[in-house]
Amino acid sequence: MPIDINVLAGHAPATRPAPVTPICQLSVIVPIFNEEAVIAQFHARLIQVLASCPGVHEIIYVDDGSTDSSRQVLEGLRQACPQVGVARLSRNFGKERAMTAGLEMARGEAVIILDVDLQDPPELIPRMLDAWRTGADVVNMRRTGRDGETMIKKATAHFFYRIINRLSDVSIPSDVGDFRLFSRRAVDALNRLPESNRFMKGLFAWIGFSQVTLEYHRQARAAGDSKWPYWKLWNFALEGVTSFSTVPLRIASYIGFASAFGAFVYALYFLVKTYIWGDPVKGFPTLIEFVLLLGGLQLMAIGIMGEYVGRMYLESKRRPVYLLDAYQPALLAADPSA
Ligand code: UDP
Ligand code: MG
Repeated sequence: MPIDINVLAGHAPATRPAPVTPICQLSVIVPIFNEEAVIAQFHARLIQVLASCPGVHEIIYVDDGSTDSSRQVLEGLRQACPQVGVARLSRNFGKERAMTAGLEMARGEAVIILDVDLQDPPELIPRMLDAWRTGADVVNMRRTGRDGETMIKKATAHFFYRIINRLSDVSIPSDVGDFRLFSRRAVDALNRLPESNRFMKGLFAWIGFSQVTLEYHRQARAAGDSKWPYWKLWNFALEGVTSFSTVPLRIASYIGFASAFGAFVYALYFLVKTYIWGDPVKGFPTLIEFVLLLGGLQLMAIGIMGEYVGRMYLESKRRPVYLLDAYQPALLAADPSA
């Protein structure tokens, strides 16, 4: 069957998808990048949980350009289980964009995002649905503890949430990852946001609506390795800060202003000193010190501005957020196209 490229491309920012009329109760979105070791185990647990929830459900596995056998495993699940849909992105776009793809495809009244590594237990889904039924538009899942993660990872995550909260204008809940439930109108709102730099934790907070937070204990990964090396995490943090705050730009100007003022005062002091006592030692060290200090401050300010200019450059290209290689939706009884 020939494939319509407009269906396969992630929507360009100018043409974000129109609101969806839901045809099932719940969509579970699962981003996947090289997770062959854990998918089958995850699916078995998820299916068991969903069986105990009333209504029709769909599971959307978003294969974020996996290069191991995840693709074959997912295809097997899809054939065995009509409620499974598989979207394959054309390459690895990163978890944020994989989630964006899933949110655009979801057709449920409520949508849950779940990691495949079983760190976020699917058994919590009924509790999340209860919170949604009592009127919440966003159910945030806060981790009260984390098993199987290094001290460094825990500490950096802790500081990341504290810093970004200090800096950004919207309050981003601490220790809440991407494991959340969204109501249909929250998903429609997220899908309307045009930016291609998608720092999802920021966007999730930005949309507002009534948000409730439940607590849970984060498990260790069931199998496989984390896909977030520290370098990637650092870049992610930088992305988060620059897409949700212009405070760093302001800090740069304050530091620049303070150092210029300091230099002025110091110059006055020098003038007076030279006038009264003369200048027996030629001020070579001071000179070097100042050149270095001011040079450093200027570079810092330019660097911060560069981060923002770079982001504007990327946004201005208005590229689609992701590209699809193929999408086979779940076969739901209520689906007119099924
Ligand atoms: N993931 C993805 N694309 C990526 C990296 C990760 O879709 O480029 C998925 C991954 O398969 C998993 C989820 O995102 O389902 C969380 O990844 P991971 O467990 O590696 O992150 P951590 O829990 O260590 O923060
Ligand atoms: Mg994980």
